[in-house]
Amino acid sequence: MALIDARDVSHLYVGSDGQPTWALQNVSLSIEEGRFTCLVGPSGCGKTTLLQLIAGFMSPTRGAVTLSGAPIKRPGPDRSVVFQEYALFAWFTVRQNVEFGLRVAGMKASERRARSDELLEMVGMTRAAERYPHELSGGMRQRVAVARALATHPDVVLMDEPFAAVDALTRVNLQEELLRLAKRLNLSIVFVTHNIDEAVFLADEVVVMSAHPGSVKTVLTIDMPHPRDRGSGAFANWYTRINGLLHEDSSLTASATTP
Ligand code: ADP
Ligand code: MG
Repeated sequence: MALIDARDVSHLYVGSDGQPTWALQNVSLSIEEGRFTCLVGPSGCGKTTLLQLIAGFMSPTRGAVTLSGAPIKRPGPDRSVVFQEYALFAWFTVRQNVEFGLRVAGMKASERRARSDELLEMVGMTRAAERYPHELSGGMRQRVAVARALATHPDVVLMDEPFAAVDALTRVNLQEELLRLAKRLNLSIVFVTHNIDEAVFLADEVVVMSAHPGSVKTVLTIDMPHPRDRGSGAFANWYTRINGLLHEDSSLTASATTP
């Protein structure tokens, strides 16, 4: 059985101006356990919407999303989410942020402490444990956000462009660290990005989406071994292939509007 299964999912938003938008139309997708899945596609193709449906923040207008066969109805400790930014509690220290979900779950202080020690070590943030988010760089904040997301031992980690706001060098470091964690902990990750390089570097599966209406164009299995070499021919081939798929739509539009 697939870990996550979306069947014929469509999602309609009605904006504050009353305008309806089909953010997703007839999306079907299966995600297997232990895989690193990247959703790529142009802005507005419904990546965040799909992630929020998996998170259980809302229900699809049509169709169903299941986790291990059970319909997703609401958020739960089996799924955790890492957002692009501003996701940490500003009034909590790094350690308190990491322990937040454990505190909510009623874990004893001594166990929480042991768990947060382990996670802060894993993401290289041990020395900043007692600092507040405003005292951290963007990359450090995202390390804490990842540690917090992993603290509750979720079945799935959902990440919505988590590294988009950090500088290029930090971004590459964060990608490498996340891959190490994913392998070490056998994580199942659904990672949204519109950065093709990031998807080719990270993913077992790349779900290529297109917009208007948001739909899945194709799913590619990236069979390159890790660590992946951004300078290799194989890497460039995957990049070119995905880039081509993403630009098919815009070239169609362009040729349709060219007299
Ligand atoms: P992506 O994350 O791929 O950029 P989104 O899932 O955020 O795409 O949005 C998909 C479509 O749904 C876009 O056209 C967007 O404008 C629209 N949309 C997203 N959220 C809302 C909302 N809360 N109300 C109305 N329209 C929305
Ligand atoms: Mg988005």
